[in-house]
Amino acid sequence: MAKPVNRLSAEEIELVRNSSLLVGKTLAEVARMIAPGVVTGALDRLAEEFIRDNGGVPGFKGLYGCPSTLLISVNEEVVHGLPGDRELKEGDIASVDCGVLMGGFYGDSAYTFAVGAVSAEKQALMDVTKECLLRGIAQAVANQRTGDIGFAVQQHAEAHGYGIVRELVGHGVGRKLHEAPEVPNYGRRGHGARLTEGMVIAIEPMVTMGRKEVRQLEDGWTVVTQDGKPSAHFEHTIAVRHGKAEVLSTFSYIEDVLRERGGKTA
Ligand code: MG
Ligand code: MG
Repeated sequence: MAKPVNRLSAEEIELVRNSSLLVGKTLAEVARMIAPGVVTGALDRLAEEFIRDNGGVPGFKGLYGCPSTLLISVNEEVVHGLPGDRELKEGDIASVDCGVLMGGFYGDSAYTFAVGAVSAEKQALMDVTKECLLRGIAQAVANQRTGDIGFAVQQHAEAHGYGIVRELVGHGVGRKLHEAPEVPNYGRRGHGARLTEGMVIAIEPMVTMGRKEVRQLEDGWTVVTQDGKPSAHFEHTIAVRHGKAEVLSTFSYIEDVLRERGGKTA
């Protein structure tokens, strides 16, 4: 039996929005600092301090035993990379995933950053992954199903010859970081959980440059592509409301910083 789907009141959705906006601002702090030579653990410390200074609690730290505030996944790492002493290099791409708990509700969002100048191939992968997210979001309206989201994401990625990771999926968001329903990045139109007014979900395509198969490293966390090719990941928390998908998280703070720095936004 599928778990009952959590629908939030207008007031509760505002609390998810507050948490999600703090995630966006935290990722903008990451955007300010990320560069060749920066160590991933330093980004993690910055993020934790920023979240706590702004009245939130890191959403991942301590959950399922997660040791960090951010999950930073570089190049062939798909998701769940643990920050540490790894130094970022020119040409890397790094997915930075962040959650915040504030006012009793979570927010969840991820952005893939270019470290310095990246190859055209990596830039294209990031661009298409972000487009996949936007196409998935466009399907997240009442009476559509999670399969409609997955179908839209998968179609766009595969049209570019990319792989869609099957093992990790989007999810409901609320009083818990991960709630029902699951929101796969692949699927069939008209299948899956029905979307209804007030549902809050995270949509998070993980797109690979090569084959779609992944494996987990011995650290018990980091998920990498089996073929070692790069992967990108973008995530928004959205609410199904008033006949449309209302995006509760935002990339605008991040992309303002990236533009100030003269870098390319995905
Ligand atoms: Mg996330
Ligand atoms: Mg998520």
